Amino acid sequence: MKDNYLREFDAKVIASGEGYVVLDRTAFYPLGGGQSSDTGTISLGERNLSITEVRKEDGEVRHFYSGPAVEVGAEVHGVIDWDHRYECMRFHTAQHVLSRYLSIHYGIETVGNMIKPGESRADYSPLESFDDEMKRKVEAGVNEKLAENLEVSIEFMERNEAIEYLKTRGYPTRYLEMVPSSVTSFRVLLIGDYDAASCAGTHVKNTSEIGELAIGKSKNVGAGKRRIYFHLIK
Ligand SMILES: [Zn+2]
Repeated sequence: MKDNYLREFDAKVIASGEGYVVLDRTAFYPLGGGQSSDTGTISLGERNLSITEVRKEDGEVRHFYSGPAVEVGAEVHGVIDWDHRYECMRFHTAQHVLSRYLSIHYGIETVGNMIKPGESRADYSPLESFDDEMKRKVEAGVNEKLAENLEVSIEFMERNEAIEYLKTRGYPTRYLEMVPSSVTSFRVLLIGDYDAASCAGTHVKNTSEIGELAIGKSKNVGAGKRRIYFHLIK
């Protein structure tokens, strides 16, 4: 949540189950917020668990592997698959810039996203068609922004402070206001002074790390919604 560049860590097993382990702390990103989960390795002594997925279940962050259960209390060392993670970071920050660009220039809202290596996608509404001319325009506009080498930073804000902050800058906040009031703090991601968004995903520190965005195919996914696929070229 605080350091997206942390690749390795030491931790202790606090719970375990059929093919999963729960740690007292972790740098693994669990599936969620439209971003795929980290993969990697958790080692305990001679044993290496190959972590294929990390998911939040029953209030726990479960690291899944195949093999016999692990003893609670064991000291472990975790290493995340950095290539996979770093690509997610580049894709996720690129998606925020793309979404902001479409919001400013076309009044289009982002209604979903799936960030993963190779190809990511986001859903936009209202967007009925996305022709070649618009595609070229959007690509050029987004790439111009990315080339400005904008600093990306993370700020933790109190619930009301975050909503107020985003509201006064003209961002829609109705989804944030729907978050259960038990959530008292929001993680706000700032991309220079171009974009601000509440997001728990992993991101790069500067847009210079992303490379160029290339928009691929797009398709209608119902009710004025269109899914746009995109790649990164470095
Ligand atoms: Zn995000």
